[in-house]
Amino acid sequence: MKERPEKTSADILAMPVQYLKGVGPARAEHLERLGLRTVQDILFFFPRDYQDMSELRSIADLHEGVSVSVCGAVEETDLRETGSGRSVLGVLIRDANHFMRAIWFNQPYLRQRFEVGRRILVSGVVKMNGGRWEMVHPKVEFLDGNAVPPAGRILPIYSLTEGLNQQQVRRIVEGVVESSACAVPEAFSDDFLDAHNLWPIQAALSQIHKPTSRETLEQARRRFIFQELFILQLALALRKHKQSTDAAPPLVVDAKIDARIRRLFSFALTSDQERAIAEITADMACDYPMNRLLQGDVGSGKTIVAVYAMLVAIACGHQTAIMAPTEILAAQHFETFARLLQNARVRSTFLTGGLTPAQRKGVSHQIEAGEIDLVIGTQAIVQGGIKFSKLGLVVIDEQHKFGVRQRSALKQAGLAPHYLVMTATPIPRTVTLSLYGDLDVSTLREPPPGRQPVRSYLAEENQRAKWWDFFRRKLSSGRQGYVITPLVEASDSVDAANVKQVFDDLSIKELHGFRLGLLHGRLTPEEKSIAMQDFRTGKTNVLVSTSVVEVGVDVPNATLMTIEGGERFGLAQLHQLRGRISRGTHPGYLCVFASLTTDEARQRLDAFVNTSSGFELAEIDFRLRGPGDVFGAQQHGLPRFYLADLSRDSDLLVEARLAAQDLVASDTYLKDPKNERLLKLAMNRYGQALELGDVG
Ligand code: ADP
Ligand code: MG
Repeated sequence: MKERPEKTSADILAMPVQYLKGVGPARAEHLERLGLRTVQDILFFFPRDYQDMSELRSIADLHEGVSVSVCGAVEETDLRETGSGRSVLGVLIRDANHFMRAIWFNQPYLRQRFEVGRRILVSGVVKMNGGRWEMVHPKVEFLDGNAVPPAGRILPIYSLTEGLNQQQVRRIVEGVVESSACAVPEAFSDDFLDAHNLWPIQAALSQIHKPTSRETLEQARRRFIFQELFILQLALALRKHKQSTDAAPPLVVDAKIDARIRRLFSFALTSDQERAIAEITADMACDYPMNRLLQGDVGSGKTIVAVYAMLVAIACGHQTAIMAPTEILAAQHFETFARLLQNARVRSTFLTGGLTPAQRKGVSHQIEAGEIDLVIGTQAIVQGGIKFSKLGLVVIDEQHKFGVRQRSALKQAGLAPHYLVMTATPIPRTVTLSLYGDLDVSTLREPPPGRQPVRSYLAEENQRAKWWDFFRRKLSSGRQGYVITPLVEASDSVDAANVKQVFDDLSIKELHGFRLGLLHGRLTPEEKSIAMQDFRTGKTNVLVSTSVVEVGVDVPNATLMTIEGGERFGLAQLHQLRGRISRGTHPGYLCVFASLTTDEARQRLDAFVNTSSGFELAEIDFRLRGPGDVFGAQQHGLPRFYLADLSRDSDLLVEARLAAQDLVASDTYLKDPKNERLLKLAMNRYGQALELGDVG
């Protein structure tokens, strides 16, 4: 008789959930809604939280201030509206003859879930209030019938979907973990697990779903967090390696080129700028592509560093392009170059979405024929298949507005160009290491000499008159200023109406008699450029604008700024805006008006007016945003972390990064069969986002 073939581990993991005991087609559909199709999906469907039943108490034995779980029936509910949308929901819970009150603020809609008589389990910190035990915003679980919660355990809490309750999901997951966790292959070697103090996969899987104690849960989580960070670092290391195998033209500076470039500059470079230039020119001299991030606070002088690098490329007989996120910025770069290069024989062109098809065709033709050395523009440069004949260097300004992928969009046949990306949003170190982990980094910390600080104030409504009085005096003494209005909603027309209203009001009231310009997203590129030009040349004293003025705009005489609706801006954006008025030799003054309805908004604005370093603000911002918000990871085109939190797990991140780099150094493409599983994990998760294409 023929034996039935053994099921392999892969078969077990790939088994559709509907064949599981107690699932079936109907439940499989529910599970599908949670993204759970196979046994493997279920094994890696980690709890979103836990309920610690190791401290299950009866109400009779509670102690003030300790964290406990209590099980009881809903006795009654009461809802008190306290005005302006605020409310207090109280749920009285009965356990034998004792009572406790659970409280929720501003969540009146929860009331309907607490039917009288329903048994619930609540966990939180208890406090005595007016002779009765109280628990504010506890975790809650609704129990089935007379089910008794298992005391002494830490219960997993899973995300749910309609038609599935917590107990059902727990049962399904628990069954799968028991029967199938053993089928999951270990991706790390024993030595590796030891070296990094990581639990083996099976123990970690079992403990993350069904922890026996807080300590074992922590160990299990640590293993998965490490793995998650490690896999990203591995993908980044692979990407870096892959890029370094492309051939790029070596662009070498000699003393003559260096002298010729420096003659164009009207100021001495700062030591940070010198160091960045040294790092960049060393990279560009290599025969594989540079991939470097230049980060520096607003006004730290990144442009001139980029200009130096671009002129090196041109001097070496190559083309170069700089891409800015907006037309305004592109136009400003164009003027900077025009000013610097007025006596040089550099053939340059301006390429944005505003060109007519015929103009675009002409420009594109010239670029292809090698008749243009320098292209300055927006994303239009990468759209529509422009081919460069001899592209040596691409500079991307304000990289935080671009995705990871755009970096490689400017490919050409033959040699790859060198890449320099710049950002004025200082990025927390852990984020740089993960989102930009495949880039080398140069940092400009010191501002150019003579830079004046900006005095920043968060003002109350009743200080308006005083502020405008000050604003007018400064304007009369020759300074210029900005008035920034927030984006009210994601609609150019509404925002335009709002900024227009502010403009009209100021024209007849506070700033009557001064020349005001208006700038917003609804204007045509020509209108925007005229508004900027008028402000730059001093034809207007004040520019009333939405935050389109945010990045990179450089008008040294502008030293005043009023920000309206400050609560609507993020910290990074506020700091960017402030950067507009710290560019000249006069001190800057900034005043924010805001309606502070949340604590978070107050903390953010307090931090803003009290901290001038963009790097410090970036770290504060990162903390305030809290876990989950991986600094717009999605905006950068990377998938989210499941468990890792960059602001909390920075030590693990650094460890994972070094380990990943070591591994790739010893086995460049992870061809060694013992690394096969790691390669697969990295490719599955990041292959597409990081364009690892043919690595695997
Ligand atoms: P950002 O880093 O924000 O892009 P910019 O490159 O626009 O800053 O530089 C801000 C201003 O500082 C510009 O007006 C520029 O000309 C000036 N600047 C740059 N480097 C120096 C320097 N070494 N000495 C004096 N001024 C400088
Ligand atoms: Mg800039």
